[in-house]
Amino acid sequence: RPMTRRRMDELKGPHGPKFNVMVTGAAGFVGMHTAIALNNIGITPIGYDNVNQYYSVDLKEKRIDELKKRDIAFVRGDVCDVDKLKKTIKEHNITRFIHLAAQAGVRYSLDHPLEYTRNNVDCTVNILEVLVELGLKEHPLVYASSSSVYGNNIKTPFQETDRVEDPASLYAATKRSDELIAHTYFNLHNISSIGLRFFTVYGPYGRPDMAPFIFTDKISNGEEMRMFNHGNSRRDFTYIDDIVQGIIHALFVNTGRPELVNLGNGRPIVLADFIRIVEKQVGQNAIIKSVPMQKGDVPTTYADISKAQWLLGYYPTTTIEDGISNFVQWFREHNASQYRMAM
Ligand code: NAD
Repeated sequence: RPMTRRRMDELKGPHGPKFNVMVTGAAGFVGMHTAIALNNIGITPIGYDNVNQYYSVDLKEKRIDELKKRDIAFVRGDVCDVDKLKKTIKEHNITRFIHLAAQAGVRYSLDHPLEYTRNNVDCTVNILEVLVELGLKEHPLVYASSSSVYGNNIKTPFQETDRVEDPASLYAATKRSDELIAHTYFNLHNISSIGLRFFTVYGPYGRPDMAPFIFTDKISNGEEMRMFNHGNSRRDFTYIDDIVQGIIHALFVNTGRPELVNLGNGRPIVLADFIRIVEKQVGQNAIIKSVPMQKGDVPTTYADISKAQWLLGYYPTTTIEDGISNFVQWFREHNASQYRMAM
């Protein structure tokens, strides 16, 4: 049954449902916010993350501090470590899963392909095998896919029914593989799932390898920054609180089938305009080096969110100006340049 806003409100408070959810990737950007939001509505999250070194471990430790402040359980473990995974599930009585752990990043996948197949494909198979073995099939597996599966599609907005067989990067190929693997486990083992195709998520505690972070960092420090595709790319930037709302709603939907759902903003913005908004919020001008599009990148992302609306009751509400304002404020308060990546 489709989720309505009203039903979501009913879930909160002392009479809401009580269950324990594993959030993999909880030391990550989306995972931390998801765990905190679950905790806020009285559902018990158990964070699970191997705290890899793809970007600043200090930033991940800060996120883990945010979890600990709220007494949210956090386990340092690898999703590919089957024994640790099973032990954690049993110890914490976990019945539902939000699988966000992954090797993220399109560009890094050009030079580190095996990090992607291991963490995004092998580990997803691992978690599904554990669900089969422990008989945890009652609720769908909610997992992160990506807008990158749409590749160089020129028909916009992107719909879940579009053909997605033309990945531009290995990252995209591993995310598409996850979707096919989830479907296979439905066919073989009757495990249903909801794969959420996130569209460029941004907000406080955001990733240092992504454009909003890099632009804010470079502009704040008066350093030159590269503007890819000469600023012509369009991105459907989606604010973290909106994404988290969609993830949590997905926990309460079970169509008995493997589903794929776009979680985007539905309002793409041209990169050059996006930079202008960051400049305004930071209060300084960017020093821009205009360069061609990078290998693996795509010119446009643009979500059709009508399925998310009817299936999940998902309505993004944060404007890009407000979202960037919140991000820049966090960046300042936390001196976030310390988390920048060597690039
Ligand atoms: P993130 O890198 O901040 O978080 C991922 C976390 O997973 C990291 O903390 C990492 O240490 C952990 N991890 C990686 N491999 C692991 C393993 N084998 N075992 C345990 N933990 C492991 O990334 P994010 O932005 O929070 O992304 C969350 C999910 O959403 C990922 O699956 C990503 O691919 C997907 N996604 C994100 C975006 C975005 O814009 N942020 C867009 C599309 C899809």
